[in-house]
Amino acid sequence: MCGIFGVTGTAKTAADNVFAGLKNLEYRGYDSWGVALRDTEGIQITKQVGKISEGTMEGSDAYEAVGHSRWATHGGVTLDNSHPHRVGGVVVVHNGIFENYLSYKTKLEDEIDFKSETDSEVIAALLHIEIQNGSSPQEALTHVSSLIEGRFAILVMFDSMPGIWAVRRGSPLILGRGGEQTYIASDIPAFLEMTNVVNYLDDNQMAYLHGVEVDFWDLLTGEEIEKRNIEVEWDIESADKGEHPHFMIKEILEQKETIARAINQDKEQIDAFTTALKKAGGIYIIGCGTAHKAAMATEYFFAQIAGKKVNVVAASEVESFKTFIRPNTALVCISQSGETADIMEVVEYAESVDATVLSITNVASSSLARASTVALPVKVGPEKAVASTKATTGQITIGFLLAHAYADTFTKGLGILLGAAANINDMINPRYEEHIESVAKKFKDTENLFIIGRASLYPIALEAAIKIQEVSYIHAQGFAAGELKHGPIALIEEGTPCIVLGDDQETISNATELKSRGAVIIGISTTEQPVFDHWLRVPDAELAQPLVSIIPIQILSYHFALLRGHDPDMPRNLAKSVTVK
Ligand code: GLU
Repeated sequence: MCGIFGVTGTAKTAADNVFAGLKNLEYRGYDSWGVALRDTEGIQITKQVGKISEGTMEGSDAYEAVGHSRWATHGGVTLDNSHPHRVGGVVVVHNGIFENYLSYKTKLEDEIDFKSETDSEVIAALLHIEIQNGSSPQEALTHVSSLIEGRFAILVMFDSMPGIWAVRRGSPLILGRGGEQTYIASDIPAFLEMTNVVNYLDDNQMAYLHGVEVDFWDLLTGEEIEKRNIEVEWDIESADKGEHPHFMIKEILEQKETIARAINQDKEQIDAFTTALKKAGGIYIIGCGTAHKAAMATEYFFAQIAGKKVNVVAASEVESFKTFIRPNTALVCISQSGETADIMEVVEYAESVDATVLSITNVASSSLARASTVALPVKVGPEKAVASTKATTGQITIGFLLAHAYADTFTKGLGILLGAAANINDMINPRYEEHIESVAKKFKDTENLFIIGRASLYPIALEAAIKIQEVSYIHAQGFAAGELKHGPIALIEEGTPCIVLGDDQETISNATELKSRGAVIIGISTTEQPVFDHWLRVPDAELAQPLVSIIPIQILSYHFALLRGHDPDMPRNLAKSVTVK
């Protein structure tokens, strides 16, 4: 995963800008960081273990610099393993996995004194050998890239010539253009303060940044390519915490407006999407983590609203179902970042068999969106907290809208969603948050917490568990309400908190079964029920109930994290934008 960022240009602030901009990519990885800058003495490297937002760097005048904020895949969190890696005259930062690195590392062990356990250092070593053997940087990068199995993005500085080289295959790299500096980063927020004019580097492309100029090549053919300048719509405010202590709460509260933005889709695009679904012989919806739960909610919407069975598979599990992805299959991919490695692998497979790729993604210019026949933008603005909140409700909104469009009841769906959005606007207020915080205080020390939901609230029970786990580290588990008595109820002890989603009769019966065994019930529903010990009210959103029901749990999770002394924006072991498999 990790964030990488490079700056070249005519101003001497490259190192400072890399250090500052990298902090905006910290959500991608935050176990250690490093910066390489080129000044009159040559390339200097600073590395530290820990978060870059808590790090310090000596200022130095530099016209170019590269930096990296790491999420370790190969080798522990140590200074030696942190990037940049230098071998000979080559300095590399790397996002991704060099899957076959060991075979090269073993061969090179006599020749190279490896300092780290990473796969990334082997890239630097291979480039160093190529340069030693007389290759130009372009030749060296072309050859070494062809040796790497796996998805990657790398930035490289060579002692022998100024400038920054970049190659991408599978992991994102975007250039920021137009000022006295040129930027290249894993994601736009790194340089959004300076420019919103970008060039996208595509897979198997190489760039050479020198001064404010950039040359681009196709890695496979060696041909030079031209890039179009594209203006992105994101603004700095939306990528900034503003007056909020954390991105997570800022993004939760933004749902007052973001759901309305997600609803506001281009009808022609919706029609193109549903036409492709109707033409398909089979529909697969894939996602990872939270997006997979949004996919599951969408599966219920299609069944309930359109009477249509769709198949939902976690992207990492598609391998076993691959043979069912055929030329007449519609593959719907849900991803916040549009760069998730597990999803992109399925997309590549789908393309290879001529299946139709459709997507719902928050980053309209992502690899996924660009690979899709129709890409519906979630439009909730940059989501920085690792725990997804506003993107989740945006995805659920679009899933609901699509089910109605498929059923030819688009206007009805729109009406329900607009009503829900208005009610959510009223629901999210300081008193509501205070009430949820008071509930969080009561259960903050619990070791276990269970969540039950029925029908389309079942995926929300699963999503609720993810939200609570990832920021509070409480063991939380979601169940289909009716499945309880088939096993999980054995886990209930006196005082075990259980969140019950919904107030339909059957679910309330299940809540009563839990309570009879000592559980403390926190109800999330439109009406208060006698079985509830605590009640978090949500508005009635008809079949769009999943949309409103997840929000109080997002707020609860946030307060659990704070009360337990954790940083909700940067949970341990996690990173946003999972660009490694
Ligand atoms: N595989 C590299 C490492 O472990 C890079 C990981 C990443 O993309 O964060 O250092």
